Amino acid sequence: MDNPLLGQEPLPPFARIRPEHVEPGVRELLERSRARIDQIASVQRPTFATVVEPLEELQHRVSKVWSPVSHLNAVINSDALRTGYNACLPLLSAYQTDLAQSEPLYRAYKTVAEQEGDALGPVQRQVIEHALRDFRLAGVGLPPERKARFKAVMLELTQLQAKFEENVLDATNGWSYRVTDESELKGLNSTLIEQARRRGHEQRVEGWILTLDQPTYVAVVTDAESEKLRRSFYEAWSTRASDKGPNANRWDNSAVMEDIMRLRHEAAQLLDFRNYAEYALSTRMAHSIEEVMKFLLELAQTARAAAQQEFAELEAFAGRKLSAWDVGFYAERLQRERYSVSQEEMRPYFPLPHVLTGLFEVASRLFGIRITEKQDVPVWHPDVRFFEIQGADGQPVGSFYLDAYARSNKRSGAWMDECVGRKKLNSGSALPVAYLVCNFLPPNAGRPALLTHDDVLTLFHEFGHGLHHMLTRVDYPSIAGINGVSWDAVELPSQFLENYAWHPDVLRRISSHVDTRAPLPTETQQRLIATRSFHAGLQMMRQLEFALFDFRLHAEYDPAKGARVMQTLSEVRGEVAVVPVPEWNRFPNSFGHIFAGGYAAGYYSYKWAEVLAADAFSAFEENGVFDSKTARRFLDAILTRGGSRDALEAFIDFRGRRPDVRALLKQHGILATGELAA
Ligand SMILES: [Zn+2]
Repeated sequence: MDNPLLGQEPLPPFARIRPEHVEPGVRELLERSRARIDQIASVQRPTFATVVEPLEELQHRVSKVWSPVSHLNAVINSDALRTGYNACLPLLSAYQTDLAQSEPLYRAYKTVAEQEGDALGPVQRQVIEHALRDFRLAGVGLPPERKARFKAVMLELTQLQAKFEENVLDATNGWSYRVTDESELKGLNSTLIEQARRRGHEQRVEGWILTLDQPTYVAVVTDAESEKLRRSFYEAWSTRASDKGPNANRWDNSAVMEDIMRLRHEAAQLLDFRNYAEYALSTRMAHSIEEVMKFLLELAQTARAAAQQEFAELEAFAGRKLSAWDVGFYAERLQRERYSVSQEEMRPYFPLPHVLTGLFEVASRLFGIRITEKQDVPVWHPDVRFFEIQGADGQPVGSFYLDAYARSNKRSGAWMDECVGRKKLNSGSALPVAYLVCNFLPPNAGRPALLTHDDVLTLFHEFGHGLHHMLTRVDYPSIAGINGVSWDAVELPSQFLENYAWHPDVLRRISSHVDTRAPLPTETQQRLIATRSFHAGLQMMRQLEFALFDFRLHAEYDPAKGARVMQTLSEVRGEVAVVPVPEWNRFPNSFGHIFAGGYAAGYYSYKWAEVLAADAFSAFEENGVFDSKTARRFLDAILTRGGSRDALEAFIDFRGRRPDVRALLKQHGILATGELAA
């Protein structure tokens, strides 16, 4: 059978991939790969060329086939696709564990390290070191029974994490709100109202249908004057996939979370770690539980007073006690009154095509690259666009897809993912390809999509991840791009690039009023920039709440007591929350970052890497934000290096010293205490 997933084209043939190709394609791929592994593992004289390179090639191939499958499952989910995807999860998990637990391969890598180590370059040595570490972290040295148990646990975890994601998607798609009294829509933007009207029309009902997609949710809790509407949306959103709210118990993730936590703990203990947090830290920049907790608690201590004052001010402004669903609304009003700036009023100034051009110019000025759109590339949805990147020498360096708009059956949030990883091996070469996925409000009534400034930040953020993936110069897929980078340093390039979306020159360049084509007026721009520190304390405390919750959940797990998800959250809230949260809020049940994604015991990474990003950007501020020498050093020391060097070492190489938390506090207008600044 000619399975499009198994072709050799440089890009996935999206136009031809059907759900029925998924399981047979993956089965065939894994069968061939296993046969190849047997060959590699029985090589007589293991060398870098006969063992390591072929295995790098094989892993590249497996992820290249699987990438479009998991991507499609996230962005155009359907029952058929889900079935195919789910059928493959146990196959892949078993394959990966078998590979990582292979003693012959492990021995072969050790032989290469011992016999060839001195003759190899630092990048090649890092490939081997990472691989040896991953063998150990898959339990290669364990007795057979424990090895088998570890494999079973990994397999079950993969399935539970997918189930978690499915429940969230179904719960999000499974709720909508019908408005019959037009006054209830007051405050919402016209694009949203028009779309809701059209949806009502399509479903042949009176009135307007508002769905629970992310842009609608954010718009409602920020702008809707009707408290009833805001409360309904807040309740539906914050009880998704739980035992509470309008669809209570229908897609409940409570038991799924319980099982995930139990199995993560067991996996960590099988490898002789005390808990999952310790296991996770074994590959991170931060080295101990104490180090992470100290970092988070000190930040909380620094930001608490500011956050409390901000909230007190907000209640004074509203003239009443505020509920959770009022905070965004009144914060927006207060911001509007104080700075005469609102996110909604920003939209006409940020048409997506213009923002993209400006963003590409920033990347071009900094790193000498050129980005051009390419037509006629097969995509999975008509809204998707494709771009190619050329280096300063005119040579192609990578490419990416952009899937910008919210729609049903698409996972909420925004992310960058690897479509194809970079490789330059004896067996062949490939340039990196990325997916950039956002959930912006789609174009309407002949106008392009109009972004809020928050959306602009999101776009810059994901593009920063994209550059990390696409500008890599590492030849070995396992440590190219974001692969093999300590997870707590992964957000450095993304948060770094966000800084540019706040810069006056860039704001002027990326803004163009949709009707008048005028850039954002200087005075509005100054007011917008002033909002950067607005509610910085509250935002910091909220991020710290998520980070502490995630970290403590994984560090303090006790099999005798179970996961204690809600208890842990309420303990953390007791310590750091400033805004009151209703008892029925079930935020963890849709917290995909830590239960379904890669941020388990790693949500602190956002703050950790934000320190790195702010401090790295301060080097640009000292020399000029487009200073080409500084940009070149950033590119050479950090952005192109993937996982080929230690993250702290890379940072010190660029900055000339260790990271300093004061850069972040300064950026947010929160003053550092003497102690923390040390
Ligand atoms: Zn990110």
